[in-house]
Amino acid sequence: MFKEALINSAVRGEVLSLTKGRTMNAKYCKIIMLHGPPFDRLRANGINQRFLKFYRRRQAGFKSLSLSAVLLLGALSANVQSQQAAEAIKPDDIVISIIIDDLGNQLAAGQRAIELPGAITCAFLPHLPYSPRLAELANGQHKEVMLHLPMQADSSKTLGPGGLTEEMSEQQFKNEMRKSINAIPHVRGFNNHMGSLLTQKTQQMKWTMQAAMFRDDLYFVDSRTTPDTVALQEAQKRGIRGAKRDIFLDYEKDDENIVRQQLEALITRAKKKGTALAIGHPYKDTMKVLEAWLPTLKKQGIKLVPVSDLISIRKARNNQRWQLSSSH
Ligand SMILES: [Zn+2]
Repeated sequence: MFKEALINSAVRGEVLSLTKGRTMNAKYCKIIMLHGPPFDRLRANGINQRFLKFYRRRQAGFKSLSLSAVLLLGALSANVQSQQAAEAIKPDDIVISIIIDDLGNQLAAGQRAIELPGAITCAFLPHLPYSPRLAELANGQHKEVMLHLPMQADSSKTLGPGGLTEEMSEQQFKNEMRKSINAIPHVRGFNNHMGSLLTQKTQQMKWTMQAAMFRDDLYFVDSRTTPDTVALQEAQKRGIRGAKRDIFLDYEKDDENIVRQQLEALITRAKKKGTALAIGHPYKDTMKVLEAWLPTLKKQGIKLVPVSDLISIRKARNNQRWQLSSSH
C-alpha cells in the first residue's frame, strides 16, 4: 500500500522518490510531518518545489490547528453507542472506569475478564497467542478494547513481544508501535504495560504519541508505573485525549482483601472528584471480587463506563466548569 510505503520511507528520510509524480494531499503531508524527517532535511534533499510549498503551508497550518482539530475529530468519531451512553450520564453522576489489562496470554482467564458484568474495558498485549481472538470476543460483548503497550521497566523484567526499549532508534520504535496498534482489532486506546523507565523519557514518550497520532482517534491512559512519568504530558501536548490511572486494584496478586480495599478507595475518589479510573489484572481473586461487586454498583448509584466515555465526561464537565466560572 502506498500509505504504508510512504510512512516507511518517511521514517527513513527518503520521501523524495515516492512522492514524485504523485499529487500530495493533506493526509500524506500529515503522515510525513508526524513521522518524517525535519523540514530542513527535506530541503537539503532537493525535494521538488511544488511539494515543498504544500508541505510548508500544511506544516504552518497543522501546528496551530492540531489541538482543536484532533479534539474535534475525537468527539466526532466516537461511535453512536458510546455517545448515547455518555448522554445518559447526568452532571452529578458518580462515574468510574475499570481497565483489566495484561490480557492475551491465557484464553480462559481472558474470557473470564471479558465476561465480567458491565462496561469493563479490556487491554490486550500485542502479538500474544490469544490477543486477536479475545479482542474480537470483547468487542462482540460490547467491551471497549485497548492495546496494552509493553515498555521498558527499571527492573530487568522480560517485556514480551512488541516491547519498546530505550535502545531502539526512532524508526524501530515507531515501527514497532504501529505494528502493535495494528495487531489488536477494534483498538480504541492504549496504556503502558510496565514502563517505569521508559515513561520518564521525554523523547521516547514523544515518539510514542507521534506514532499513535497516525490513527487520529486513539486515547491514552498513563498506567503510572512511576511517579516520574511524563507520558500523559507528552500526549496532551499533541492533543491526544488521555487520563491517568488513579487506583491499582491488585498491587499484590491474589489477595481478596486488597482488591476490596482498593475498590473502596476507587469509590471514595470518585465521590470526591466525580470520576475515577482503576486498573486491575485477570487474577483469580480480582475476578472473584469483581464478579460479586459489579452487580452492586447500580444500587450504590455509581455508573461504570468505558474509558473513552470517562474521558469525554471529564472533558465536558471541565468545559462546563470553565463556562460557569467565566460567566460570573
Ligand atoms: Zn501490564
